[in-house]
Amino acid sequence: MSKIAIIGAGISGLFMANLFKKNPNYQITIFDKNKTINIEEGYGIQLSVNSVKLLNKIEFNRFQNNKKYHPGKINFYSNNISNKICHLNISDFNNEYCKYTTLKRSELINFLKKDLGEKIKTDHDISKIDQKNQLIRLTFANNQTYECDYLIISDGVFSKSKNLISNTKIQPRYNNTLAIRGMISNSSNVDYKNISLFLGSDFHHVIYPVSSEKDLNFIAIMKYNLSKEEQTNYKLFSDDNFIKKILEKVPKEISEFIGEIKELKIFPVFVSDDFFKTNNNNIHLIGDAFFAFPPSFAQGASQSIESAYELFKSIENNTERDFFKKRVNKTKMVNYRSKFNQFVFHLSNPASKYLRNIFLKRLVKNKKFLESYLGKIYKN
Ligand SMILES: Cc1cc2nc3c(=O)[nH]c(=O)nc-3n(C[C@H](O)[C@H](O)[C@H](O)COP(=O)(O)OP(=O)(O)OC[C@H]3O[C@@H](n4cnc5c(N)ncnc54)[C@H](O)[C@@H]3O)c2cc1C
Repeated sequence: MSKIAIIGAGISGLFMANLFKKNPNYQITIFDKNKTINIEEGYGIQLSVNSVKLLNKIEFNRFQNNKKYHPGKINFYSNNISNKICHLNISDFNNEYCKYTTLKRSELINFLKKDLGEKIKTDHDISKIDQKNQLIRLTFANNQTYECDYLIISDGVFSKSKNLISNTKIQPRYNNTLAIRGMISNSSNVDYKNISLFLGSDFHHVIYPVSSEKDLNFIAIMKYNLSKEEQTNYKLFSDDNFIKKILEKVPKEISEFIGEIKELKIFPVFVSDDFFKTNNNNIHLIGDAFFAFPPSFAQGASQSIESAYELFKSIENNTERDFFKKRVNKTKMVNYRSKFNQFVFHLSNPASKYLRNIFLKRLVKNKKFLESYLGKIYKN
């Protein structure tokens, strides 16, 4: 029996553990630095059909229906709800079993961890990774050690494990944007059935339902320069004066209903610039540790799930060598679209915006374009 250690109990690590759990040839243990698994009550997540199909392999289809939602359309607006540009039928990519899904992140995490029990070891902050012959030895900040045959690194965008095994320090890059997120309920003027995407200047925001009970998720991405010190000063983002300074910069249409947003949180968005290939065929990266995208294509979680599934299959079939190359190809496609979306969503010149809106109206109806831009990503 092979022993598999997974570092990080986020979406990718937990999904990976669920896949291996079914195979008696592997013994899995998942380590997380936090004292409890962070479920951040409330906030939403969008899952496209590519990840829903894979989640169904661990019976996500049986997961309570009132806890998830299937929006039919993405409505594009210019600034506010009275200026609709066009809509995209996101449900065109659905089939009977796999539907574009939105839900609370906490519900997804609860679903993923519910059958893992003792396999999850919390309060285990990785501090050392030694590789000797075929054996991998892990040491944690609490002085505990663990030996395994395979190591799967899924400790997120700031991956400490990646730095422990590489000779050079690998840091993600600040994406020059802040994310403002929270929950809305009982708001007039909001579409409870679909995803609403509002395009502003250097700013876009998305509102979508996260259950069939009229809970709505709010997420805005705002261009914002931060100094090097500010980027690493996490305390700044809980400082009321700093938050006030940021909120003064949000467009008028948003500032009018900012008071209605509950559990409002602001944080800097970090992305990856490059890939890191390990020189040990038994050590692999998945999820944001493999590569973190700008959030404008809502593919981070879906790609985390996809990367976990591809690696699981490669290990089962002894084809681990192919995993990295295949994953890089798909990641590049998603990263290009994520960056392009952000550029187009944030245009500020009136003439460019006017042209963008004309193109957008045509493209959302162009089947060939949609198949290539979205369909290629939603296939796995
Ligand atoms: C603003 C924003 C909105 C987003 N919206 C969407 C969306 O709508 N749809 C979508 O698909 N994606 C979205 N994403 C992306 C998505 O959230 C991430 O891609 C996804 O959560 C990554 O999962 P992960 O498991 O790789 O990492 P994480 O969720 O970051 O999990 C990493 C885990 O590792 C643990 N860990 C960290 N360091 C250590 C250590 N030293 N030792 C042990 N454990 C450690 C952490 O505690 C954590 O539990 C969004 C991202 C942002 C920034």
